[in-house]
Amino acid sequence: MGRLGVKTDYEELRKAQILENQARLASLGLQKTVAELRTITSKPQSEKRKHNKVDYSSTPLRRSNRLKGNSSELALRRSDRLCSSAPPAKRKLGLFEEGEVEDDIEKRPANAPLLRVKDGLMLHLTPEALARRCTSKDRGTIYDPILGICCHFCRQKKLCGEEDCKRCGDMDMDQPCLGKTDCSICHSSNGVLCRGCLKVRYGEELEDVRANKEWICPHCTEEKGINPYWICNSSLCLKKRKMAPTGIAIFRAREMGYKSVAHLLMDQLQGVVRGR
Ligand SMILES: [Zn+2]
Ligand SMILES: [Zn+2]
Ligand SMILES: [Zn+2]
Ligand SMILES: [Zn+2]
Repeated sequence: MGRLGVKTDYEELRKAQILENQARLASLGLQKTVAELRTITSKPQSEKRKHNKVDYSSTPLRRSNRLKGNSSELALRRSDRLCSSAPPAKRKLGLFEEGEVEDDIEKRPANAPLLRVKDGLMLHLTPEALARRCTSKDRGTIYDPILGICCHFCRQKKLCGEEDCKRCGDMDMDQPCLGKTDCSICHSSNGVLCRGCLKVRYGEELEDVRANKEWICPHCTEEKGINPYWICNSSLCLKKRKMAPTGIAIFRAREMGYKSVAHLLMDQLQGVVRGR
């Protein structure tokens, strides 16, 4: 028995090390994507900009490529033609992230990533998108590959559905998104959860998290040993632990009287509930 305990500890340590390495790799991969995106989006701007004298504000551009799965409900006050060589998803000219700038020491909240918009470029949602944005509050309605902040659990890059979110509603990039969480310790994408996932997966209300400046994500809760067996149950993180993803476990959890999947898992890991 004693020997087994020691072995398990070692295994846990090893697994934690692997997890950390994977997370580091993942974050590197992400930065590379941002860098690539930046090269693409900032290339064709120099000379072509001058010719843009037409005011498109009265007729916001709307691209009808929703069927292709990369719909943009954003209207830019510039002509689409200018950047027609770029693939549709990257066509939002002048947008780039500055995350990789070295002197950017201050760690920004993960629900308010720095996204600088080139001078003279006005972002606004089409009236139609604006009307649709809040129709589904849980996970948001409008998918946006660049401005949408990715939820760690559902991985959906959507504008949130909170009525008073200035970031998603008015495209004010200085504001945090009110529909996504931010971990007070790591401020990383691991701590970004949408209203729906937060509730179903971790049993927490977005309003409570928003009001709690000290909110700690499941990853940091585990890392700091704050609440034993409180683990992140995203399919990605469960896979890393070699545990089966808990896709529809919420029904089972609710049936059994649990507040969320994380609460159920906590008991399972403690051995209170049999099976998984
Ligand atoms: Zn989500
Ligand atoms: Zn928002
Ligand atoms: Zn965290
Ligand atoms: Zn996770």
